[in-house]
Amino acid sequence: MSDGPTYGFDTLQIHAGARPDPATGARQTPIYQTTAYVFRDADHAAALFNLQEVGYIYSRLTNPTVAVLQERIATLEGGAGAVCCSSGHAAQIMALFPLMAPGKNVVVSTRLYGGTITQMSQTIKRFGWSATFVDTDDLDAVKAAINDGTRAVFCESIANPGGYISDIPALAKIADEAGLPLIVDNTSATPYLCRPIELGATLVVHSTTKYLTGNGTVTGGAIVDSGRFDWSASDKFPSLSAPEPAYHGLKFHETFGPLAFTFHGIAVGLRDLGMTMNPQAAHYTLLGIETLSLRMQRHVENAEKLAKWLEQDDRIEQVTYAGLASSPYAERAKTICPKGAGALFTCALKGGYDACVKFVNALEIFSHVANLGDTRSLVIHSASTTHRQLSPEQQEAAGASPNVVRLSIGIEDADDLIADLDQALAQAHG
Ligand SMILES: *Cc1c(COP(=O)(O)O)cnc(C)c1O
Repeated sequence: MSDGPTYGFDTLQIHAGARPDPATGARQTPIYQTTAYVFRDADHAAALFNLQEVGYIYSRLTNPTVAVLQERIATLEGGAGAVCCSSGHAAQIMALFPLMAPGKNVVVSTRLYGGTITQMSQTIKRFGWSATFVDTDDLDAVKAAINDGTRAVFCESIANPGGYISDIPALAKIADEAGLPLIVDNTSATPYLCRPIELGATLVVHSTTKYLTGNGTVTGGAIVDSGRFDWSASDKFPSLSAPEPAYHGLKFHETFGPLAFTFHGIAVGLRDLGMTMNPQAAHYTLLGIETLSLRMQRHVENAEKLAKWLEQDDRIEQVTYAGLASSPYAERAKTICPKGAGALFTCALKGGYDACVKFVNALEIFSHVANLGDTRSLVIHSASTTHRQLSPEQQEAAGASPNVVRLSIGIEDADDLIADLDQALAQAHG
């Protein structure tokens, strides 16, 4: 569907990348449950291995079911191409891998998913990479954090879990002036609510585990490339601009142009890191994406109702949701995510840590899980779970203080959810 008329989001979320199966006419995308693909002949095999022809070799690199999902996500994000992988965290490593090298750094927002803070502050050091954390609302601090060794700037569109909205155009401008790509994690917003590439991002990463799949069935990730970055403008990105020894000296950017990052992600990233998405996972995510806009509308509608209800309740200290008029991010949300500020917010309870623990235990419809972006409403006390590994300062910066619970609002009846919150608050303060 890429060369036809320009379709709307609701049409693309169902059709982009898919066509009836050429062998059987099957209307739903088949699950190509296969590891390998028969070559037509030896010349065909050689052309595939030399990247002279695009096709299927082995499912660590490419698979037809996964390929449909890649094209669908790339289309919804307005990118040139996408690579799917085994989880959101894998997507983050896969996004950084072609850019970084030992001794290089990435400038990252302090307001991130807890697991990402750990990945960036601890684990990437094992590769000789480092991350410099900055408050991305302080644009001068972002500029000051960038040095000769910086290879990317990284933020979340709607930051998990504190209800922060990143000023993507301002960050894109800073990255651009420094000759660097801006990577935006668009997991909590989804392309329905926020379109980072239109706002200036170079790369978009996703945990497809969350809203894109939508019902908590499989883990997955995706990296979308805008296709707009000039990887050859400096000598900072040799993986993309310089000859690649493993492919007879082929230069990815020169050869593949706007698809350089995507081809590198498959031909080198998936080939050698092996963080591949399996076709079953792609199938579940394709099913989920078909209803993305409908679900996001209801997620946002419910989140707005519940946040307003909680904000006026005197057992609550504060609700941080950019969809509330009281939020310092309410204005920014109108330009960054005009269809709504997502369905994830935090809520500070009077009574501190103990009240939070009682509240979480007393909820009946809300499930206490380390996940978000499910049709079901979910709750977690971040300070005792997802953000437990962080220092008190990091917890505070990430919006995960001890008196705070994070709510991921599902698509159930809003009245039932409000009644559940009401009875749990009564028990927490009883
Ligand atoms: C869940 C999540 C991740 C990590 O994704 P996994 O699929 O769990 O590896 C990264 N970023 C955000 C914003 C997330 O919500």
